[in-house]
Parts: sequence; C-alpha cells; structure tokens
Amino acid sequence: MTMATVLDIVSEIRSDFPLIWDIASAFAGLMVLFVVVFGLERRGGGNLRRFKTRNFLTDSLYALFYQGGIHNRFLYVPVFAVVALVMPSWHLDLIGQLPPPLRFVVFWLVADALGYWIHRWQHNNAFLWSFHSVHHSQTCVTFATTYRNHIVDPLITGFLTYVPLMLLGAPNWYFAPVVMLQVLFDAVKHSDLKWRYGRLYPIIVSPVFHGIHHSSERIEHDSNYGGILAVWDYLFGTMSVGERPAAYGVPGIEGRDTFWGTFIAPFRQLKKLLRGEPVASVDGAGVSEQR
Ligand SMILES: [Zn+2]
Ligand SMILES: [Zn+2]
Repeated sequence: MTMATVLDIVSEIRSDFPLIWDIASAFAGLMVLFVVVFGLERRGGGNLRRFKTRNFLTDSLYALFYQGGIHNRFLYVPVFAVVALVMPSWHLDLIGQLPPPLRFVVFWLVADALGYWIHRWQHNNAFLWSFHSVHHSQTCVTFATTYRNHIVDPLITGFLTYVPLMLLGAPNWYFAPVVMLQVLFDAVKHSDLKWRYGRLYPIIVSPVFHGIHHSSERIEHDSNYGGILAVWDYLFGTMSVGERPAAYGVPGIEGRDTFWGTFIAPFRQLKKLLRGEPVASVDGAGVSEQR
C-alpha cells in the first residue's frame, strides 16, 4: 500500500466519519498529554499508581466525551445555536473601539474574572454545586480530571460566560485561544506536581494552588477558585496557601466511580433538594453539609 493510498483512506475516514475521526484524534492527543504528564510526575516523585485506577478510567471517558466532540456536537453547539439567535440584539460592543491586542487582553481578563465568580457561585449554590461536585468527587486527581465535568456543567458555565462576553462585543473566535489555554493549564494544574511557580504563586494558578482546591476538607475546597490567574483569589480573600492536601474528593462518595454513576448523582441530589430533604453528597451515599 502506497503512502498516497494511506492518505486517501485517512482523508475518507475524516470526511465520511467525522465523529470517529474526532474521537481518534482526541485519543491520540490525550496519549501525548499522558506521556508528557507521566514523565513530569515520574521525575517529580508523583504517585503514578493513580493511572491504574478505575477513577482514572472514568476521567479518561470524560476526556474522550469532551475532547472527542461528542458533547459539542450533541449538546453544546445546538444549545448555543439557540442562544445565538437572541444574542445579536444584546450586543453592546463595549470594547469594540479598543485596538485589537488591548481588546483581546481586556476580553481575556474579563473572561478569567468571570470564571472566578462563576466558580465561587458553583460552590455556594446548592443547584450549581450538585453538578459541579462531580468534578470534586474524584479522589484520585490526575490530568484527566480536567474533563470530569457533568454534561450540564459546561452548559451552565458556558451560558454564564457567553452572555456577558457577547455584551462586551467579542467575536466568537475570541473564545478559541481562551479555551485552548484553559485546557493546557487545567491539565498541568490537575497533575501530581509540587510546582508552585515560586513568587508567581499569587499570580498564576499552579498544580499546588489547584490541588488545594480539590482537598476533601471543605475549608480548602472552598478556596482557590481561579482558572488561570490566582490574583482573583488574592484580591477577594479566597486564597489558600499550603501544601498539596492529604486527601481529595467529597467525603462520603468514595467507591462509586463510573461515568453513569457520576451522571445520575446530581439528579438524585436535586430530587432531595426539591423535596426539602437534607442534601446528600454527590452520589447520595453520604450526607454532607447543605450548600
Ligand atoms: Zn470547584
Ligand atoms: Zn479541578
């Protein structure tokens, strides 16, 4: 088989089966990310046994679900197509007069600050927490935990981010670099690395900074909300300074770590909320404080 024939077959698969192509590409990308993170963690003395757990498998399925375009195709894009229908009349173009580089910086800063406040809200509101707690339910945090987000979660955060940013007058493509940067940052910040970035600790979110956010201690996981910049936590008094926590997760939920289990858990929690019953932790196995 010649190289030209192989390329023809590849291009046919790409055009005839785009979803399969996207999933395969995502798998390849995640393998590269895995090799890089694994190498860094091995050098830094990270706990590599985490990669042999069922928890890692669950997070890897989430990774393929999001990076492979399944969520985008079947949920995100259709939902935001509807949102976009009503958006044009809302455009205020508040930053349209700024020179392009400055416009992008302002857009990026506003997006990250918005992310900080939305994340705080996700921790303080019972409805939002029921979905966001899926991300926190992981007791075995790895770079793949980046993708462990309930399918409803990106729709909520996407909408809360999209509307104000569209009011600023930012074109759609402005989201692309922000999202790409966020993906890269999130993979590193969920790794078992002792990186604090030295004096930049209060400025840029590091693996230690975000590791504290995944602590099983509520006082710690209700801190360090920053996405890329840690400055918001310092400005608004929600920062935690310390070492990587001894344990991760939300107390009472260990042992039921599957894609389906984490999908259904928030709905069980919401049902209890509606009935006025005490709110259980993410899978209903243990009772935690009401948020
Ligand atoms: Zn959180
Ligand atoms: Zn996280």
